[in-house]
Amino acid sequence: MNQIIDQTYRVAIYLRLSKDDGDFSLSGGGKTESNSIHNQRELLMNYLAGHPEMALVGEYKDDGYTGTNFDRPDFQRMMMDIRKGLINCVIVKDLSRFGRDYIDCGKYIEKLFPKLRVRFIAVNDHYDTANQGHADSLLVPFKNLINDSYSRDISIKVRSNLAVKRQQGECISNFAVYGYRKDPENKNRLLIDNYAASIVRDIFRWKIDGYSPNAIAERLNLAGVLSPMEYKQSQGISFETSFKKSSVAEWSHVAVRRILKNEIYTGVMVQGKRTTPNYKTKTQILKDESEWVRIAGTHEAIITRTDFELVQRLMQEDTRACSTDTAVHPLSGRLFCADCGAPLVRKTVSSRGKKYIYYICGSYKNDSSSCTQHRIKEELLHSTVLVAIQQQVALLLDMEQALKKVKSSTWEEAELRKINQSIEIQEQIVERNNSLRMGVYEDLQAGILSKEEYASLKEDFSARIAAARQAIGQLQSRRSAIQDGLGEQKNWLEQFRQFAEVKELSRKLVVSMIDRVSISNRNEIAVEFCHKDQFQCILEFLEEQKTAAKRKENLTLLPRLEAV
Ligand SMILES: [Zn+2]
Repeated sequence: MNQIIDQTYRVAIYLRLSKDDGDFSLSGGGKTESNSIHNQRELLMNYLAGHPEMALVGEYKDDGYTGTNFDRPDFQRMMMDIRKGLINCVIVKDLSRFGRDYIDCGKYIEKLFPKLRVRFIAVNDHYDTANQGHADSLLVPFKNLINDSYSRDISIKVRSNLAVKRQQGECISNFAVYGYRKDPENKNRLLIDNYAASIVRDIFRWKIDGYSPNAIAERLNLAGVLSPMEYKQSQGISFETSFKKSSVAEWSHVAVRRILKNEIYTGVMVQGKRTTPNYKTKTQILKDESEWVRIAGTHEAIITRTDFELVQRLMQEDTRACSTDTAVHPLSGRLFCADCGAPLVRKTVSSRGKKYIYYICGSYKNDSSSCTQHRIKEELLHSTVLVAIQQQVALLLDMEQALKKVKSSTWEEAELRKINQSIEIQEQIVERNNSLRMGVYEDLQAGILSKEEYASLKEDFSARIAAARQAIGQLQSRRSAIQDGLGEQKNWLEQFRQFAEVKELSRKLVVSMIDRVSISNRNEIAVEFCHKDQFQCILEFLEEQKTAAKRKENLTLLPRLEAV
């Protein structure tokens, strides 16, 4: 008796269709046909026809539900029937019909189903939990699925980028900023001016190498590079500016600093910096930076975002400590005595024709009774710091990989999806209460409701509408906050790829990675890295993901095991 039951599979077929998953393509090609409910059903029925040991018990179908979560009515109904013991085999066309979240899918397919003795088959992925050796292979079909959704994300991004380009971000000022020129075909567009752009790149590189804006200006003047103003005149463009001070317009630290601070070089158009307080006055005031309109991708970048941000950070440091007029050594300004906190001082000694470079505590150098020597060779310092940086970079790149794996789509996108769903629900509440409110008016007219009843009901519905509208407003502002930050978190870790193979300690590497290096009197070297907050934030997020996955698992497993 038992044997017969064991050999007969009581089958549920599960069908799902969703716009979110790109099942309906706008162009009308491909997926629309292959994924329709009708086609899914036909494929599964064909499969069943070839398996006499399987008996169809029920069809479960979620039409219009996303695969990124399992809050789907028929999916939940199917799970109930599984727990009642009505079903011991679930068949889907492919994994993406079951779900698109790798962790959640794994929870059902690899953990819950085996416990409930449910066989799971994804026909087109050739995945079947009854086949030995398939237990660990869930990742393979999933990889395709992730790639699939990834490529779709990209195309959506490209499309929306193009839309932005068309609609906005036109250069509306009269002159192109130094480094760019106006497109002769379209004066609202910026093209790169190769010569000036190469000067802009030099200016940023020298700043990263440790030169002060003053020193950079001097260097440019010595090399006979025309200042932005003279350069414009030499190009036959009449140009005047209130910054013009002397008849010979040379490079000044002001001009250099203005270039170093201009976000336009990263390919971002910044507009709407100023505003007039009201229509009566023509005085313009500078708006808060958070209100500026930034439009990315309007023109080609001359400087990478990473280098630009690095320079902004270095300029802020300049206001605390004075920057030098010459190039600096990789670690200068970042080496400190661990005991007294004084900066270390670099010294060179020649002995028998050989040069030795080492550092000692600055306060010891001035007064040998105030601290101990803390003497350390530059070579040792460089090689140790390099190893520390290499390890840190490896860790950051591991985190980048982990962040990619945790979610098939990025967490911001998952968050946006949730918000959009909530907005939809609130909009339905508004609509429903609106029609209810209309209804009571008709009831009043028909004499079903008294005036008092009508007034109190109307007030009730209006209050609900107002509450829902308020919720929509909050959700919308949260949505735009996330959209503004979208990509920043993602890209942040990517910047460290440039250091993946680094073999030498350069100034750029040090200022990008390190805040402070302190040396103890026993020559212990402690390295403090920059970006501690962001690092911590991502680490905590990854940790949260892990515990959330575990917690969810425990919550859903317990009651179900009781029911079995
Ligand atoms: Zn000291």
